[in-house]
Amino acid sequence: MTDKMIHNVIIIGSGPAGLTAALYTGRANLKPLVFEGLQPGGQLTITTEVENYPGFEHGIMGPELMDIMRKQAQRFGADCRFNIVEKVDFSKPPFKISVSGEEHLANSVIIATGASAKLLGLDSENEYMGYGVSACATCDGFFFKDQRIIVIGGGDTAMEEASYLTKFGKEVSIVHRREEFRASKIMLDRAEKNPKIKLITDTVLDEVLGVNEHGKKRVTGAKLKNIKTGEIKIHEVEGIFLGIGHKPNTDLFKGQIELEDNGYIKTSKVNTRTNVTGVFACGDAQDHVYRQAVTAAGSGCMAAIDVERYLESIHG
Ligand code: NDP
Repeated sequence: MTDKMIHNVIIIGSGPAGLTAALYTGRANLKPLVFEGLQPGGQLTITTEVENYPGFEHGIMGPELMDIMRKQAQRFGADCRFNIVEKVDFSKPPFKISVSGEEHLANSVIIATGASAKLLGLDSENEYMGYGVSACATCDGFFFKDQRIIVIGGGDTAMEEASYLTKFGKEVSIVHRREEFRASKIMLDRAEKNPKIKLITDTVLDEVLGVNEHGKKRVTGAKLKNIKTGEIKIHEVEGIFLGIGHKPNTDLFKGQIELEDNGYIKTSKVNTRTNVTGVFACGDAQDHVYRQAVTAAGSGCMAAIDVERYLESIHG
């Protein structure tokens, strides 16, 4: 079924980038239609406090910030729907966006689908995902009260997750594959000073160990391998958190627009245009460098202004 109306702009995604694009296109009277996707509000809805979003002197909870952004966009006419886009066809305008078997048409599209946590790709990681293995400390930390936890990774995410998890777990070890940490000094210092955190370097997770008792799976340990000595050690833990970075949510656009080798959307260096005229991209789906809520919001604003100018150029 096709919705006959041709929308000015359809926005795919609802993190800071998508909702800022919705606010700006809404205020430009373009009546944006927003498909919020799998995780309405985006990655900030699975964080706790956001301390570095300008304008909130004392910080704000991530989900609350996203709620405010959505309401602000809706005040200017954004039509926000909790749907997942299944297919896009950017071969010619109007562009086709398929949602729950229905096709929506638009003269322009803003992609703001963000990024998701990366996984290691181990079979055992997959087997115990949700049963002791997690990629989101703020979502699942609560379930590990007084338990032993490891966090994999050496960047800011790993430091942040480990610090957060010390609120619940009795001990938290950060397992990193190198000796040097990628994390910023302040985050690493904070982790090092935390008496509950231990750093294990030059080490990788070889296998997640667990048991399946009467159909109930749980993690019992981590098989860790020192990559310099080859030594294998079993570390008894109940929780394993992955903090190894993120992957852009761009599979939907493969073959439709140009992507970088790492999956991020290729945009012009000076604006948010993709290689398809009329399709724009913003936020973490096209930015693997800054990846901050405020930079995502900034690029959402840029995409909205680019769309406004583009629509003026085609409609006169
Ligand atoms: P990063 O890419 O910075 O770090 C990923 C870490 O995981 C690296 O240490 C990397 O190791 C390790 N890693 C990646 N793949 C594997 C693998 N297959 N096996 C083992 N280890 C692996 O991602 P982050 O998510 O930590 O940070 C992304 C951006 O977000 C950064 O700019 C960061 O500053 C920012 N951020 C800021 C926060 C804040 O300010 N509050 C909080 C969280 C993130 P290696 O170093 O060897 O490559």
